[in-house]
This record gives sequence, C-alpha cells and structure tokens, in this order.
Amino acid sequence: MKIPFTKVSKDAKYPLEFKNGNDQILSNFKFKPKTGGNLVHCELKFKGQLDTHCSICGKNIISNIDEKIELLINNGIFNGFDEEFDIYEMLNGNIDLDEILISEIELIKSDYYKCNDCNNLTDHNNENDENNYKN
Ligand SMILES: [Zn+2]
Repeated sequence: MKIPFTKVSKDAKYPLEFKNGNDQILSNFKFKPKTGGNLVHCELKFKGQLDTHCSICGKNIISNIDEKIELLINNGIFNGFDEEFDIYEMLNGNIDLDEILISEIELIKSDYYKCNDCNNLTDHNNENDENNYKN
C-alpha cells in the first residue's frame, strides 16, 4: 500500500496484513505529519507470529510478536539524523507501507532467539525462564 505524503492526515490509521509461509503479521500504521517540514511521525503496531531461528542450533522457532515502534518518514532525502527515531526516506512522494513493514519484520527476525532445547542446556540457573520460551 502506498500513501501520498500530500494525503496523509493526522491520526489516520492504515491497517496492513503480511502473510508469507509461517509469517503472519497484522499491523497498524498511525501517522502524525510534523509541521513545517517533510517529516511524518509514524507509530507502527504489529502483532502475530514470525518464522525465526534459534541463534545457537539453527532450529526453526515460531515466535509470537507483539510490538510497537515509532519512526520518522521523510519525503525525500533526509540530511542529518534524528537522535530518537529511525528515519525512512521515501523518494517518490509516497509512503510505502509494505517497504517499512517488511524491513521492520526483517529487523525482528535478525534478533537473538533461543529454542527450548538450547535454553535448557545453557540456562540451568533460572528455572523461571522456561516459561518465556514456550515457542
Ligand atoms: Zn536451539
């Protein structure tokens, strides 16, 4: 889905679904255009499950995802940086929701995951931890 910068209205919400194999994500974009510039603040919520891999043995794990992130989207090249948020640059006047969602999904997938087996092998000290790795 692509939204022209000129059509972005404050607090408008755009739901977007992503499905690919075991990856199933329901997302919701909420925009707040910043006054006096090309920047749009975006609150992105997403929920669902992602195909991930154990960082130790490589075993496949389905991880439950429930995250909220904030980022900035700039209409054109952004000169400089923002201390608080990641900035996405859109070069054709449109906000490409798919592009943002897919790159955030890739970021989550590149996180560190540990399967139950490896968790039991390496973490004898904390028995409560087991409950956090049901997937
Ligand atoms: Zn493992």
